[in-house]
Amino acid sequence: MSQTLLKINNLYATLESDIEIIRGLDLNIDTGETHVIMGPNGAGKSTLANVIMGHPDYIVRSGSICWQGEDIVDLATNERAKRGIFLSFQTPEEIDGITMRDFLKSAKAATDGKPMPMLAFRKQLEDTLNMLQMDKAYADRYVNFGFSGGEKKKSEILQLLMMDTKLAILDETDSGLDVDAVKTVREGIAHYKNQDKDHSLLIISHSTKLLRDLPVDYVHVLVNGKIVHTGGKELIQKIDREGFADFLQK
Ligand code: ADP
Ligand code: MG
Ligand code: MG
Repeated sequence: MSQTLLKINNLYATLESDIEIIRGLDLNIDTGETHVIMGPNGAGKSTLANVIMGHPDYIVRSGSICWQGEDIVDLATNERAKRGIFLSFQTPEEIDGITMRDFLKSAKAATDGKPMPMLAFRKQLEDTLNMLQMDKAYADRYVNFGFSGGEKKKSEILQLLMMDTKLAILDETDSGLDVDAVKTVREGIAHYKNQDKDHSLLIISHSTKLLRDLPVDYVHVLVNGKIVHTGGKELIQKIDREGFADFLQK
């Protein structure tokens, strides 16, 4: 049975400078659901993702963000990660001198609150690399260092699958993914859903190529810091054809 995972109620969030970006936003995500957010440039989509994750650039002024019934507005980002919220980064950083293996090991230890037993970690990493059809040598390369666009995407998906994620927020907006990267993300999402049918997704994307074959439960249109319309998958085609004009007039 599905349960409420994330419940955002009448949320207002600003920059430190008081500039309001999120303006009265409501969003409910239940376990197992896939939600898509679309909206014009500058509408606040990435900000919403960052606010859910507790990015320090943004201040929640009113409203609430509840995770499985717990108000998480005052929790630090790592505490939110511990609860199973994962946010992909549009431009993952290169980290010279730190291997993917070490990076994943410490990321997991940080979110689990204790190091994972060596053998269990090794097995999970090996299994996940296999599943993604990634060479084992990948784990010994420095994080994102000299990675192609497609390889960076794979490293994001690897993180997503290793982290015991309950809600994956994938912000792919405007990033013009190439064919390989779209395929990687699409397959990664499929693997993530296969891990557990209760896994939920919040996908910020305009890519009909990415979204076409995915089971999507809700599509939300975000304009000016709030969700102005919610529909089903058919909205993706409409927006692809007609843009956001219909929603801007409201
Ligand atoms: P979207 O992802 O929908 O394109 P964003 O959430 O990135 O939109 O941005 C919404 C608005 O807030 C934009 O006008 C953007 O310039 C501004 N904004 C977001 N984050 C910051 C920031 N850290 N500093 C300054 N302006 C920001
Ligand atoms: Mg964005
Ligand atoms: Mg997430």
